[in-house]
Amino acid sequence: MNNPGTIKVKNLSVNYHGNTALKNVSFSVDEGSIVGVIGPNGAGKSTLMKAMLGLERSSGSVSFFGKPVKSMRKNIAYVPQRSMIDWDFPVRVEDVVLMGRYMHIPWYKLASRKDKAKAAEALRKVGMEEFSGRQIGELSGGQQQRVFIARALTQNADLFFLDEPFVGIDVKSEEIIINLLRSLSSEGKTIFVIHHDLSKVEKYFDQLVLLNQELIHAGKVDEVYSSSNIQRAYKGNTAVIKEGKEMVVVNP
Ligand code: ADP
Ligand code: MG
Repeated sequence: MNNPGTIKVKNLSVNYHGNTALKNVSFSVDEGSIVGVIGPNGAGKSTLMKAMLGLERSSGSVSFFGKPVKSMRKNIAYVPQRSMIDWDFPVRVEDVVLMGRYMHIPWYKLASRKDKAKAAEALRKVGMEEFSGRQIGELSGGQQQRVFIARALTQNADLFFLDEPFVGIDVKSEEIIINLLRSLSSEGKTIFVIHHDLSKVEKYFDQLVLLNQELIHAGKVDEVYSSSNIQRAYKGNTAVIKEGKEMVVVNP
């Protein structure tokens, strides 16, 4: 890619009933990056993601490769926090994944053989092909998350937004998902991941957006992930000890 595009966030602010959740956040990110969005509980990470996607009322501006979110909907896949999903809703794994195709299927048509093949391929990529007939509620947390990643894959999106994808899942599912995100990024896809486990930050991400209502710092991981930045974001609720290259965060 000679000329990678940019995602630009400018002066983004969100208030809930007069309380500030996000204040004047500005940063930009290069196409093809895996971007970690980090910060303490209640820092506004989910709010930032929803505001970027136009799902939350906000002021400021967001552009994806020069275009507003409205004209990019088909290019964006969003996997919300697992806790936001009603897992008792009776739906089969295959149908959850097929939902990712719906924006590509005209209203007067049913899912075609090609759509079903795409869903099956996505399930294979996350190692869940054997579970396509199962009810989503019967799966483990990690398996459910892999199904939602498969659904995002079938969308053929260029941008992926994942809210805490690794919370409450097993090591194997985490590995499958991070490897998949890496391969998407090497194809030029841009991936935003809200994440709270600071120990994995250097391993998983190319860029970071460190947040606590306001932007603390955004950029390459080495620039952002310093003990002084982490301490500013966590406001003394954490002790950061930097030993050589290792940063130990106590009580985040
Ligand atoms: P994070 O994802 O970093 O934990 P959130 O973006 O979920 O933080 O929340 C940021 C702040 O906004 C928190 O104080 C939270 O209580 C508040 N908040 C989030 N969503 C709403 C909402 N729909 N209505 C009112 N307050 C909200
Ligand atoms: Mg959140």
